[in-house]
Order: sequence, then C-alpha cells, then structure tokens
Amino acid sequence: MQPLELYRDRDHACLMFTDLIEEDGQTVQANQFLIVDGDTGAIIDPGGTLAFNELFMAMGRHFAPQRLSYLIASHADPDIIASLDRWLTSTNAQLVISRIWERFVPHFTKAGKTEGRIIGVPDGGGHLPLGRHELVLLPAHFMHSEGNFHFYDPVSRILFTGDLGVSMTSGAQARVPVTDFAAHVPLMEGFHRRYMVSNKILRLWTRMARQLDVAMIVPQHGAPIMGQPAIQEFYNWLDELKCGVDLFDERAYQLPTALIDPVTRQTRQP
Ligand code: FE
Repeated sequence: MQPLELYRDRDHACLMFTDLIEEDGQTVQANQFLIVDGDTGAIIDPGGTLAFNELFMAMGRHFAPQRLSYLIASHADPDIIASLDRWLTSTNAQLVISRIWERFVPHFTKAGKTEGRIIGVPDGGGHLPLGRHELVLLPAHFMHSEGNFHFYDPVSRILFTGDLGVSMTSGAQARVPVTDFAAHVPLMEGFHRRYMVSNKILRLWTRMARQLDVAMIVPQHGAPIMGQPAIQEFYNWLDELKCGVDLFDERAYQLPTALIDPVTRQTRQP
C-alpha cells in the first residue's frame, strides 16, 4: 500500500509506512517514517530486518536512497534498528541515536560497519540540521528506553514519539488518525501501563511537550493522534497514568513456582 502522507508542501514531506510487515499475529505492527526536505532525507525508526527490503523499495519511489542523510532511532529496540547493517551497507546515512546506545548498536552489524557512522546524542538532545530546516531531538528517556528521544519537525509540526502514544492496531487502522481520544484509550492503556517506566517521567515529559506547537503526535505503533482536543486529552491522560514501577511492589518479585511447558509453550502452576 502507498505510505500515508502526513504532510507535504513544495519541498518538505513526511511519509508514514504502516504495513510493510506481513500481519501474521506474531509481529507487532510498526510504522516507519521518511522525512524529506529538498534533496535530503531522514528515516525515523527504520525497523527490523523484516521491514528492510520493503521500506528500501518503497522509499525509493519517493526519494533516492543514496541521498539519505540520517537513520534516526528513538531507541535501540529490535523493531527500531535491527536492520542497521542493511541500511549502512545500502546508503551513506549516519545513525543518530542516544549516546548511551552508541556502543551497543554495533552488535547489530558486521565488524567495523558503524565506524564513523554514528552520531551519539547527549541526554539533553539538540537540533539536527536536515536540508534547510532542523529536527529537534527531544529527551524522552525512560519512555520506555533508558536512552530515548522523540523528534519534532517544526515544518509539519509533527511530534514523532516512538513508543509513547502507541496503540495496538492493524496496519490499516494505523492509517486513520485519532481525534476521539477517549475511544482510543483501550487500545493504548495496557501497553503504557507495562512499558512506560513511571508517572514521574510522563509528567516531566508532558511539561516539556506542552511548550511545543504540535499538530499531530505520531507513534511507532498504531495510529497518529491528531488535533488540539485529542492531543491535550492525551497529555492529561499521561499526567494521571500510573505505570511501570508505580505498579510494582514485592508481589512482583517472589521466587517463581510456575512451570513453563516447552511443548505447549504455556505457563502453569504445578
Ligand atoms: Fe521499544
């Protein structure tokens, strides 16, 4: 399917790929993004090896891969950057990733592949030139990864939020931006409760995000959240959400008694 055009003007475009990976029930749906400014471009969260061939070909219809400046990774999970080796071979792009993952990502590639190709982003983030504009790399640590960034594009006013704002949907559902936030919460809640680290972090983040002029919040799984009412409701929801370590106590850290059966792959109490 064609990518979803999140934004386009004469020399700037943001495209979202939602269905490059076959929906087999075993793999979580994932979005990949191409931002083009003039004759330069960047991919955000390129994905795993499953997505590489499809994304490379699909991207080629909109932009010459040789002109790709950056692969920008919100964090270092497999569905974000496991395709790194293929991208470094097929393009001249540099990888932009948290400094705390800089020395871990070479494990995704053959020896020496990453040499001189990684831009390690300090915890405070920064502004990254892309064409005639800049992308803002915003601190989003512990949401969920320890070294984690979100990306704000001032031209489209899109905030790319990686694993924050994720919903569990199909590739087709991911193409329909959400404006009714309340109806969307059931698709988000379980994920955020378990994957986000704590309410303290969510509040620190919303305090920062509220200072930006955001037209759309676009996560790496599921549908974008669009328009001021839904975005404000999303911030308010995060402010109140208990998650991660907020929900863990000594009950979660008991010596286990369950048996994991390798034949049925089920867990049962003896
Ligand atoms: Fe992740």
